[in-house]
Amino acid sequence: MSFTTRFAPSPTGPLHLGHAYSALLAYDMAQAANGTFLLRIEDIDQSRARPEWEAQIYEDLRWLGITWDDPVMRQSDRLSSYKTALHDLWNTDALFACTCSRRDIAEAASAPQEGGAPLIGPDGLVYPGTCRTNGRSSGVNPLPENAALRLSMNYAATTTATPRIGGGVFSFTETGMGPNGETGLIEFPAQAAVAHIGDVVLARRDMGTSYHLSVVLDDAAQGVSHVVRGADLFEATKIHVILQRLLGLSTPTYHHHALIRDDGGKRLAKRDDARAISLYRREGASPSDIRAMVGL
Ligand code: GLU
Ligand code: ZN
Repeated sequence: MSFTTRFAPSPTGPLHLGHAYSALLAYDMAQAANGTFLLRIEDIDQSRARPEWEAQIYEDLRWLGITWDDPVMRQSDRLSSYKTALHDLWNTDALFACTCSRRDIAEAASAPQEGGAPLIGPDGLVYPGTCRTNGRSSGVNPLPENAALRLSMNYAATTTATPRIGGGVFSFTETGMGPNGETGLIEFPAQAAVAHIGDVVLARRDMGTSYHLSVVLDDAAQGVSHVVRGADLFEATKIHVILQRLLGLSTPTYHHHALIRDDGGKRLAKRDDARAISLYRREGASPSDIRAMVGL
C-alpha cells in the first residue's frame, strides 16, 4: 500500500514546537516510505481562523524544509461534502437533533438519578441522552436547521445496515502509541463506545460540521493511508473509526506520537506563543536547531 500522510493544522494561532514535531515526523515518515505528504488547513471554526495564521503556516513549514503536494485542502471549501454525509446519516437514523446548551448537559449529566460522577469521554461529558428521541420520524425528512446533530452511538453499535457493525468490536492499527502505551491492534467493543463515548456532536449548530466528521471525510478524500498526530487524539480515534464504518470508508493506520512538553513538563498549548517557531527563527535558530529541540 502506498504511504500518504498529512499535516492538518488549524490557522488559529502560531505553529509552535509541538506542531513542528508533528509536521516533521509525518514528513520524514513520508520521505522514508517514498510516499506522499499533504497539507490540510482545518478552518471550520471561522470565528477563530485567520488568513494571517494560514500564511504563517506555509511560511513556517517551508522554512523547516517541508514540502507538500498540491492542492492544499481547506475545510472551509468542503462544507457541501460534510452536508452530504450528514444527509446520508440522517436518512439512516444515525443522527438526532439536539438543542441542549452546555449547561443543560452539565446539569442532566450530574442529576442524582444518573448516579455517580458524570462520565467524561474523548469529546467531553458523555451526553446524558436528553434529546435522543428527536430522530427523524419516518421516511426521508430534511436535515433539521438550528440544532446540533448528534450521532446515536447506540445506533452505531447495533445497526446491521453497515457491514461489520452490529454489536461487534471496532479496531484500528496503531504504529505509534496512545497515552498509556497502547500500540498494535487496538480493539474496543461497540458497547464500550456507547457507555464511554456516547452521542457525540457531528454537526455543531454554528458550524454545520464538527472536527470528528470533517477529519474522517477529509482523510478519506485526501487518500490518507497513515494518520500521524499527537497522542492527545488517540481516544478520539475511536470516534473516527466508528464514523468510517458508518460512512463506508476504510480506516487508515494511525501513528500517535508523544506530545512535546515545555521545560516544566507541561504540554505546550496553542497560546504558548513563546514557543512559536517564528519566534525561535527571529532569535536566530536554524531549522536543524528546531529538529534537535524536538528530538528529530
Ligand atoms: N487540526 C487538529 C489540530 O490542530 C489536528 C487534527 C488531526 O491531526 O487529526 O490539532
Ligand atoms: Zn440535547
